[in-house]
Amino acid sequence: MRRSKCHGRVSAVAVGCTALVLAVTGTASAQPCHQHTPDPARQVPAAKDGWASYGTGTSGGAKADAAHVYTVTTWDAFKAALADGGDQPKIIKVKGTIDADGPSCDSFAVPGYDFDTYLKTYAPETWGRDKDLSAEPDDSPEGLRRASQARQDAYIKAYVPADTTIIGVGKDAGFNGASLQIKDVDNVIVRNLAFESPLDCFPQWDPTDTADGNWNSEYDSAVVYGSTHVWMDHNTFTDGDHPDSTLPHYYGRIYEQHDGELDIVKGADYVTASWNVFADHDKTILIGNSDSASTAAVDRGHLKTTFHHNLFSNLVERAPRVRFGQVDSYNNHFVAGADHGYSYGIGMESQLVAEHNAFTLPSGIGAGTILKKWKEAPVTAADNYVNGRPTDLIAVHNAEVPAEILQSGAGWTPTLRTRVDSPRAVPALVDHGAGAGHLR
Ligand code: CA
Ligand code: CA
Repeated sequence: MRRSKCHGRVSAVAVGCTALVLAVTGTASAQPCHQHTPDPARQVPAAKDGWASYGTGTSGGAKADAAHVYTVTTWDAFKAALADGGDQPKIIKVKGTIDADGPSCDSFAVPGYDFDTYLKTYAPETWGRDKDLSAEPDDSPEGLRRASQARQDAYIKAYVPADTTIIGVGKDAGFNGASLQIKDVDNVIVRNLAFESPLDCFPQWDPTDTADGNWNSEYDSAVVYGSTHVWMDHNTFTDGDHPDSTLPHYYGRIYEQHDGELDIVKGADYVTASWNVFADHDKTILIGNSDSASTAAVDRGHLKTTFHHNLFSNLVERAPRVRFGQVDSYNNHFVAGADHGYSYGIGMESQLVAEHNAFTLPSGIGAGTILKKWKEAPVTAADNYVNGRPTDLIAVHNAEVPAEILQSGAGWTPTLRTRVDSPRAVPALVDHGAGAGHLR
């Protein structure tokens, strides 16, 4: 059904055709819709397609005039297009794969920065494990790292203005090493793009993060930060040529150069993520990034996000991890690999509804790991299938992890859904339809 141009998921198209035909002939059946298939760059989510359709809805740059439609093939041209045109609605078409990561990590290093010196200076046997590096002066190895990181930060981050659609052309468009910042704006659409995660060239050592210390990195592939009405549709997020398994270890800890694939933070609201692939990554999607009182004051009552028909494949954790938000997750396919930690993280004041999803778990990974309890917050879970069998995710979690009992009933009922598929059909539908290159 989804392959038909005039039914199902592309109902916005069907509505447009019907309205036009009604105006001309008074009947909806006289004219085939395919004659009116619009430019995908001007498509908007269907009515009731998740939280992005709430209130004023999400139209991105659909109303752009011809002067504000850009086609770009380089990172510089992409950033220039983002900055052009004032507050006019705009469409930016991305052609091919754009390198956003600069010529090399060395090209971002400030004079005097030397990684071997950094490693010697902060080695646990020298520096200890009690004190973080935040007080280190600007001319210290940490200060030089900070300055180098700032240069990379300025290069690989791109800030998306309000009323913008960014869309890949054809089947092979995307970014290597970009960090898309959807920050403090309303009304953004991102479609048909493959994101290879940015690599932080200058991770920071924090001796106080866990008993063993940790290397921490910046840069999500995309972050929705304080923004409203965002539709992320048919994108692919992976670590590409740089999976964590290829990263080195220092001080006995992985030199983690990745952050999230898609984070939704700082009071962001009304987001729909549909038909995306999130694959081959550790900490994948964070909704709300702190339990602190100041963060709670910003996030409480917001972070409302819908996930449907996404493929979550070979991830470690956070698909997503939720704080505060009313999050509706339905008709997604989760495929766990050997490194699977958990899928849904139940965090502070989260209100997750997880229904009609399909989970494919390898032998040895229990269905109790699908949910992970971080904080006391109730969950709604119904009509989910694990390896083809109906499974009560809460009951199986509570049986496998009796020290972390989850309560049922998220306290709200999602109404912003379009078509809901049987979870039995979800693996085939999602595996063949999700991700960049699958717009139709
Ligand atoms: Ca490059
Ligand atoms: Ca992040």
